[in-house]
Amino acid sequence: MPVDSFNRNIDYLRISVIDNCNLRCVYCMPLDGLQFLPRAELLTAEEIERVVRAAVRVGFRKFRLTGGEPTLRADLVEIVERLRAIDGVGDLALTTNALLLNKLARPLKAAGLKRINVHLDSLRPETLERQMRWGNFARIWDGILAAEDAGLTPIKLNVVVAAGYNEAEVVELAQLTVERDWHVRFIELMPLGGGECARLSIKRYVSNIATRRRIESALGPLAELAAANPADEARNYRLPGARGVVGFISPVSEPYCGNCNRMRLTADGKFHLCLLNDDELDVRKALRAPSLDGGIEEVGAILLRAVATKPTGHHLLEGRSTRERSMYQIGG
Ligand code: SAM
Ligand code: SF4
Repeated sequence: MPVDSFNRNIDYLRISVIDNCNLRCVYCMPLDGLQFLPRAELLTAEEIERVVRAAVRVGFRKFRLTGGEPTLRADLVEIVERLRAIDGVGDLALTTNALLLNKLARPLKAAGLKRINVHLDSLRPETLERQMRWGNFARIWDGILAAEDAGLTPIKLNVVVAAGYNEAEVVELAQLTVERDWHVRFIELMPLGGGECARLSIKRYVSNIATRRRIESALGPLAELAAANPADEARNYRLPGARGVVGFISPVSEPYCGNCNRMRLTADGKFHLCLLNDDELDVRKALRAPSLDGGIEEVGAILLRAVATKPTGHHLLEGRSTRERSMYQIGG
């Protein structure tokens, strides 16, 4: 398994397959001024497969497809099929807003996808439409149920908590775990990209300390669960008598850089070394240059270089984050 210069085992690759999205969440994508990658700049399904072959060869085992909104890729099922067929791919998951999942859940499961994380900020249609702009609660909910029905489990819901939007609704979201064996994870806002979404993310930030307090005062004490995997970015708890899990992902109030096991691949073929830092290494050139093995050897070497130069520690509290890339361009 690749080990970085801070002695962290890096074996998890998050693959962004597209930068476009069918939503405009207030902290992620502005309504105006967006420019998406032209199709020719996106890695093809076959190129993504070659990157994963190279990654497996150097010791990566966990993979996640993300975006933008990955379900907008017409060839998403084909991408899953290609990756599933590679020996050494252990975990294969998807992060999605679930708007298109109703139709896609079964084909994705049949193609070999193991599980999904769904982004859902509210159970109230009005709040959801205000925070996840262009969203539709009923369609997202149908998508989640379709995924559960198809066996894409455990279902994990990602809730980004924003002051003046959904902060008071965290109680009803946590309460979902009483009846359902789902994970409901509350995520602290992070400013990325330096634009209006970054400014909103700073202004509307809610610490998970406050979110946890709100949940406990309404629903009772949360019992901490032992970490199944030390690299899990969520700290997990259970409500009294609950079937599911309440998780807190707290990059700002409780950074987890010391346990980071991730590398990221952007949709235009760059290894992005740390979510909260602009450093990248290009891999598309190697994939598109003529070579006998499709560039797999070269891509593996670039990936090992990316691991060796991966930074640690972020500077969110000093107001520093990425300037070049926003969340939808990296994949979360
Ligand atoms: N469109 C998919 C989705 O929303 O799940 C996948 C891509 S999205 C960029 C991945 C994750 O990033 C989502 O769970 C979303 O909640 C999270 N996210 C986006 N902007 C964020 C921000 N400013 N701070 C914290 N999390 C953010
Ligand atoms: Fe789209 Fe996901 Fe960003 Fe929302 S968080 S705008 S669903 S990419």
